Amino acid sequence: MGTVMLGTEVAKAMKERLIQRTEALKERGTEPKLAILRVGARPDDLSYERGAKKRMELTGIGCQVTELPEDVSQRELEEALEALNRDPSVHGILVFRPLPGHLDEEPLKSLIDPVKDVDCMSPVNIAKVFSGDDSGYAPCTPEAVMEMLDHYGIDPKGKKVTVIGRSMVVGKPLAMLLLKRHATVTICHTRTEDLAGTCRAADILIAAAGKAKMVTAPMAGEGAVVVDVGINMDPEGNLCGDVDFEAVEPGASFISPVPRGVGSVTTSVLAQHVVRAAESLSGQSRV
Ligand code: NAD
Repeated sequence: MGTVMLGTEVAKAMKERLIQRTEALKERGTEPKLAILRVGARPDDLSYERGAKKRMELTGIGCQVTELPEDVSQRELEEALEALNRDPSVHGILVFRPLPGHLDEEPLKSLIDPVKDVDCMSPVNIAKVFSGDDSGYAPCTPEAVMEMLDHYGIDPKGKKVTVIGRSMVVGKPLAMLLLKRHATVTICHTRTEDLAGTCRAADILIAAAGKAKMVTAPMAGEGAVVVDVGINMDPEGNLCGDVDFEAVEPGASFISPVPRGVGSVTTSVLAQHVVRAAESLSGQSRV
């Protein structure tokens, strides 16, 4: 039977560490703050926003939301972002994506101040992730996977790690973070031949494909660490991951569930990035 890796436990431990850092910032006159820039009111965005606000509040970080109407112009959106770049009380900026179809995301990527870009939208931060420079901000979900592994004492160094999924949001940057920590990484995708064999050979298997319960028991090697990033609905309408948890769990050494897994750590990583940005912008950097 595998140890269940609970994201809620990881988030709890991170919260304690973050509170100490936000208190230290406040003692020196800096109130760390996240600004969310949202166009319209997509249910997904509102749900993530509620989680992010709660996490900021729990860790002593301020959170302001700029809501723009669904039909906002490109120019108005860019001006709103520039205003947040200039605002000295804002340390981190999160722009909800995807944007409505008439808006172009590309100019925003170059416009956002890389120092405030806490979810890796800027090409500057993307380049840092891919060049192994940890002075920038990686996307929150891949970093949440790394926090999860670290919390449970799983060192990827020298291990065979298979990542299913090659998106720029999860799979690819996660592979880079693992490589930085000296893992031997294989990235799988829809065109991979022998997906099952490649997965079975892994010491650590990470599923980020967005396909409900696609990882079955024969795909996970005996004693493997299995991390599930997927968020899907099963045919009964219940939230589930990419891993068939009940089938895979008996043979795994560690396994993360969905819900209460990686998704529970993502907003804690966001909070950690805001605190780091506030430390850096206020000259109280820990580095
Ligand atoms: P995406 O659709 O952009 O990318 C999916 C990737 O998986 C692609 O590279 C594709 O090639 C690969 N893939 C899909 N089906 C496959 C299959 N059958 N075999 C092999 N490879 C396959 O998705 P994404 O944005 O990277 O998200 C992946 C999953 O992670 C989704 O379920 C998403 O909801 C979830 N997610 C979770 C969090 C979180 O906080 N936990 C955050 C972001 C995304």
